[in-house]
Amino acid sequence: DSITGSIRSAVNKIRHKDDAASLKKAVTELRKSLLKSDVHHKTTKELITAVELETKKNGIGQDSFLNALKDELTKLLTTDGNQGFVFSNTPPTTILMTGLQGSGKTTTTGKLANYLKQRKKKVLVAAADLQRLAAVEQLKQIAEQVEVDIYFDDNEKDPVKIAIAAQEKAKAEHYDVLLVDTAGRLAIDEELMLQLKEVRDSIKVDEIFYVADSLTGHDATKTATTFKEKIGIDGVILSKYDGDTKGGVALSIAHQVGIPLRFVGIGEKMPDLEVFIPDRIVSRLMGAGDIEGLAEKTSAVIDEKKAKEVTKKIKKGEFNFNDFLDQLSMMSKLGSMKSIIGMIPGLSQMAGPLKDMDFENSDEIKRIKALIASMTPKEREQPSLMNASRKKRIAKGSGLTEMQINKILKQFKNASKMAKKLSSKGGMKGLQNMMS
Ligand code: GDP
Ligand code: MG
Repeated sequence: DSITGSIRSAVNKIRHKDDAASLKKAVTELRKSLLKSDVHHKTTKELITAVELETKKNGIGQDSFLNALKDELTKLLTTDGNQGFVFSNTPPTTILMTGLQGSGKTTTTGKLANYLKQRKKKVLVAAADLQRLAAVEQLKQIAEQVEVDIYFDDNEKDPVKIAIAAQEKAKAEHYDVLLVDTAGRLAIDEELMLQLKEVRDSIKVDEIFYVADSLTGHDATKTATTFKEKIGIDGVILSKYDGDTKGGVALSIAHQVGIPLRFVGIGEKMPDLEVFIPDRIVSRLMGAGDIEGLAEKTSAVIDEKKAKEVTKKIKKGEFNFNDFLDQLSMMSKLGSMKSIIGMIPGLSQMAGPLKDMDFENSDEIKRIKALIASMTPKEREQPSLMNASRKKRIAKGSGLTEMQINKILKQFKNASKMAKKLSSKGGMKGLQNMMS
């Protein structure tokens, strides 16, 4: 029921070259699926007409249909305006984060801060959602998690004053970016709009981002339009655009609202944010993955030098528990499994259960972490030191049974043996040999 699935079945309706009747069937199927995926009916109509025309022009066939669809989807998602993050000439670049309650403003503020921090920017977030007490606390935790500074004032009730003071601090202390998290409401209301306008007019705001919850489908398009009319927005960040959203909302927002999509949120974790690049999103919608995006993501996270060191260790059979922890923390910086899987061609269709795997919070990983936490530094470096009395001590400290400990140690030993074998046989080639 995803767009990706329906595109596939639409394409399969085309059986023969130059078969006009089958093209009609494919087009009908595509129309139905777009409407079901929350694409606005006007957008759908325009898209379908263009795809049909384009396919006919190039000779009816599966390839020309797919190419036409890809071109038209990309065109639709390409609006005038910026992509990603744009820095102001007069720092701090100040962004107002707006949207309805629960849309993902606070989470996205953290994700953006994380994104900018990875790019070596000095970021300040401001807690100007004073509607709920928990909101400030939530942003504090997120700021701590991504290691950026936060401005808040538990005694202040006026978001305008928070915004002003935060910007003064950001100027004085030479921050590159200030992200102001604001309050939302369950629905559009005048009080909210007034408050946002007041904040907007009392500090230097470079851009207003509207965070749209893609799960709300057509409503996301409607509210974005209202925000655009009432306070003016410069960019949309589509949140919760994870593997299983219907996906069509991106097309509708681009086409109906006419505001550029700047980023997409593709999971609950801090690294789950990506620059919205139309042809990459289309590639993913069509099930072709996004290898470029994956490469970018990994290069921002993976430390080349460390990777080489670890490879060397694996070759010598010296991979230890500290290396293991390093690798785990690197994996978690990549974000959720779901978001990674969507980037690998074909995998999102195959890897159903993998998608919901939460690497850090799986029971296995928790047990291994508990085990490692109870080890001495020496034991972590040299897993071979492990003996019965050490295991007894670790069992007490970690709350694991000796059986569980033995199992993990055995798995670890086997894994590093396997890794050593593979690396000496030449990486992937070795793996292929072993599997054939
Ligand atoms: P706010 O009220 O607009 O500040 O919304 P929050 O940032 O508190 O987010 C509301 C909920 O949506 C939280 O449970 C978030 O974890 C979740 N959320 C935000 N962005 C995403 C996303 O991209 N994907 C998923 N799956 N969940 C998200
Ligand atoms: Mg919030």
